[in-house]
Amino acid sequence: ALNEAITLGEKMLKEGKPAVEVVEAVVKYMEDCPLFNAGKGAVFNSDGKQEMDACIMDGKDLSSGSVAGVSHLKNPIVGARLVKDSTRHVLLSGPGAEQFCLAHGAEYADSTYFFTQTRYDYWKKLKEKERTESGQNDGGMFIEEGSHKYGTVGCVVLDRWGNLAAATSTGGLTNKKYGRIGDSPIVGAGTYASNKSCAVSCTGTGEFFIRGTIARDIAALMEYKDLSLKEAGDTTLKKLDAMKGDGGFIATDKEGNLIMLFNTEGMYRGATKSGQIFPDIRIYRE
Ligand code: ASP
Repeated sequence: ALNEAITLGEKMLKEGKPAVEVVEAVVKYMEDCPLFNAGKGAVFNSDGKQEMDACIMDGKDLSSGSVAGVSHLKNPIVGARLVKDSTRHVLLSGPGAEQFCLAHGAEYADSTYFFTQTRYDYWKKLKEKERTESGQNDGGMFIEEGSHKYGTVGCVVLDRWGNLAAATSTGGLTNKKYGRIGDSPIVGAGTYASNKSCAVSCTGTGEFFIRGTIARDIAALMEYKDLSLKEAGDTTLKKLDAMKGDGGFIATDKEGNLIMLFNTEGMYRGATKSGQIFPDIRIYRE
C-alpha cells in the first residue's frame, strides 16, 4: 500500500502537479486503505466510534487547513484542504467541520464504512483491560503503547518549483477519550511546512508532540539557527526522547534532503526522488 501511495505521488509530480495537491492525494489514498489508522481504517475511541483529525499545509504561503474530531467525512484530508482553501480559519472541529465540508463537496461516510474488524477487536481488548485494571486508566483513555499500534499517515513533498507541503491524517489513539484532539491537525505540533525551512509530518503519542511543538521546532532550528535538516531532526528527536515521548517524523527541505527519524521500534515509511527507479520502503531501523 505504501508503495502504491508513493507511486501515485511520483506520477503526479512528474505530471507537474504542485506539492500541496500531491500530499493531499497521497494521504487520501492511504485514508482509503484500511491498513492505516486514518479514514477507512481509523481506530475506535472510548465511545466506540471514529473521531479523526487531519491537516494540510502549503509551505509557499503558510496557508493551512485542519479538521479535528470528525466522524463522518470519508476523507478528512479533503476536509482539511477545504478549510484551507475556502475559509478564513485554520481549524474546524466536530459537527461544524463536517457540516462545512459536506456542504462544500466532501464525501459523507457513516460508521459502517469505518468499521474494520481488527481495529474493533483491538479496541475491545483495551476496553477489557480498562475494566479489569480500572484505577490505572485515565477516565476512558486507556490507550495502547508501542509503535506497532500506530498507523497515522503523513506525506511531505518538494515539487519541481521548490515548493514544500505537508499533510497528516489520523484516527488518533485507540480508546482515546471522546473529544480528545491529537497533534496531527495542529500546525507546528504534528504538521508543518514552510518554504523557508522544511515540510514535516509526525506520528506518535500526540500529547508530547503538542507540548514539544515538534514539527515547528525542526523548522525553527533551520530558520533561526541555520541547522541542516538532519541536525534539526536529530536535535528535535533528542528533545522528544528527553520528554519520554514516543514516535517519529518525516521531513524534507528545499534541497530535497529527507529525514525519517523515530525513537520507536519501527515506523512504516517510504520515499522516492526523481531519477530513482523504485520507492524505498522500510519498517524497522536499517
Ligand atoms: N499522533 C497521533 C495522535 O496522537 C497518533 C499517531 O500518530 O499514531 O493522535
